[in-house]
Amino acid sequence: MNKPVNPDQDGIVALLQGARSFREREYGDPESLMPGLSAGQQPKAMMIACADSRVDPALIFGARPGDLLVVRVVANLVPPPYDESMESGVLSAVELGLMTLGIPHLIVCGHSNCAGVRTALDDALCGVDPDTMPAIVEAFFNSDSDEAYALQDWTSFAQAACHEVIAEHGELSAEELARHAEQRSILKSLENLRANRWLQDLEASGELTLHGWWFDIATGDLWIADPATGEFDSI
Ligand SMILES: [Zn+2]
Repeated sequence: MNKPVNPDQDGIVALLQGARSFREREYGDPESLMPGLSAGQQPKAMMIACADSRVDPALIFGARPGDLLVVRVVANLVPPPYDESMESGVLSAVELGLMTLGIPHLIVCGHSNCAGVRTALDDALCGVDPDTMPAIVEAFFNSDSDEAYALQDWTSFAQAACHEVIAEHGELSAEELARHAEQRSILKSLENLRANRWLQDLEASGELTLHGWWFDIATGDLWIADPATGEFDSI
């Protein structure tokens, strides 16, 4: 195997090799699904997951090509319906999945040690008010700062969940508090989804089921929210 000229390209070389292997595996076998999928998709489930490199839904849940429609955003957040980020981003994918493709299950899947939720939790603990975020972001675009204001702005959608768990579990360790914030934030995202009337109607008619899941990177355990109580339990 040729050694890459620039060691910084190692990650890219590995990805290109991965694409070749995928083509050999998925297109060389007459039983393979991929060539047939060029005609269209009919996923069995949709998932809103974090952008984190450690929590790839297809790998964790053993999904095959065409099985799972995935939206990956920092901290797997669904903003409130009145926010324009929701209109232009996450909601467009939700409409594609549920309205256009008629997918019957939508899962919001969070995870342990989520840097996005940690950002929101740190801001909540420091008393940063999400209502001041737009002014902060505007100031950023008018400055030459390299601080991650877009990250802070986006993760402010998790702040309501963080404030709740700080009020309820302020005595817990930082790690435990983060777990509660990660799980509460999943429930908030489900609430924000249900704020859309058309989605509520799909759920009420039994055509759609919403799920809240949380994956523990350290143990591999999957925790599932009880739809009645919102309590998470490992399976
Ligand atoms: Zn994350």
